[in-house]
Amino acid sequence: MKGYAMLKIGEAGWITKDSPQCGPLDALVRPLVVAPCTSDIHTVWEGAVGERHDMILGHECVGQVVETGALVRDFKPGDRVIVPAITPDWNSIEAQGGFSMHSGGMLAGWKFSNIKDGVFAELFHVNDADGNLALLPEKVDPVSAVMLSDMIPTGLHGAELADIRFGDSVCVIGIGPVGLMSVAGAALRGASRIYAVGSREVCVEAARKYGATTVVNYRDGDIADQINDLTSGRGVDRVIIAGGDVDTFASAVRMLKPGGVIGNVNYLGEGEYVRIPRAEWGAGMGHKTIAGGLMPGGRRRMEKLVSLIESKRLDPSHLITHRFQGMENIEKALMLMKDKPRSLIKPVVIL
Ligand code: NDP
Ligand code: ZN
Repeated sequence: MKGYAMLKIGEAGWITKDSPQCGPLDALVRPLVVAPCTSDIHTVWEGAVGERHDMILGHECVGQVVETGALVRDFKPGDRVIVPAITPDWNSIEAQGGFSMHSGGMLAGWKFSNIKDGVFAELFHVNDADGNLALLPEKVDPVSAVMLSDMIPTGLHGAELADIRFGDSVCVIGIGPVGLMSVAGAALRGASRIYAVGSREVCVEAARKYGATTVVNYRDGDIADQINDLTSGRGVDRVIIAGGDVDTFASAVRMLKPGGVIGNVNYLGEGEYVRIPRAEWGAGMGHKTIAGGLMPGGRRRMEKLVSLIESKRLDPSHLITHRFQGMENIEKALMLMKDKPRSLIKPVVIL
């Protein structure tokens, strides 16, 4: 079969390899709609997960089941399914401890395009199909639904990690597709004021649609200074980090009130250390919590989140700025993600 792969750090291209085998609990799925992720860029061009050879990329997909293993109960060939980016081993010790995304080791619930072939292929393998797939409801557009693989769960997890409460003031740093879903998550969780940090006009417009009340451009100066000015020096109750780099944490700590929480979902592709400013962290006693996490995946999460689309509480369609048709355009879509033109939020490829 054909697939678009990481050939080695810094290089990607088309390859052919044998089709995957279906184990008794597994499924083989043919992609219908896929999307590239900023994480694919970190993986190939920053070597963020280390060296990989001929590993098929992609972890965002809505597809059709082609084959199921003998022990799969709830899915059959022909079913249209939402495939989460994170497909845990549900019988692992880590999953029993409530951290399924780390099943088998830190971050190891993230299998596609990390530790096995991803979804930019004619066919791909899903472990634990009953635990990880969700049926795509008839009425949900598969193009919107592909945002359920990663953008929606990751962005909303930022709001969960930051533990947003009714009336909180929230700063969302980074308003690419992930941060935009964090803005939506903050609004759904009852934030009063939402400060959105970004610069691309198309993202700023979408941020307002998802509930941002104020926009801050990080290119106009230090973002902690800007937020502190806007809040008369008080800062915000919660910060979600969905963009920036290792230095962004210092800004987040500086703009956070004592007792506040930072929820990070940004993937730190470069830099050895995250530095925390001592004085603004209350010399270690400021009750400023820093939480960071990989999105939770699996079937239940997908079923719950698709119900937000069905009930029209969340409309992911504002994220999709570029649509391509045909597998051969996966490369073009990925390169768009790499170059991040100012008109881009998220591209999708319909196969
Ligand atoms: P984008 O690159 O589309 O968005 C990044 C955002 O950060 C943009 O709004 C950008 O602004 C802004 N930004 C860039 N530099 C700075 C800076 N120095 N200070 C403040 N803001 C800045 O990324 P995505 O939304 O696609 O993804 C966000 C991150 O989430 C990525 O690192 C991705 O790998 C990660 N991720 C994490 C997952 C998880 O499970 N935890 C899963 C999926 C993705 P501008 O408008 O100028 O572009
Ligand atoms: Zn991703």
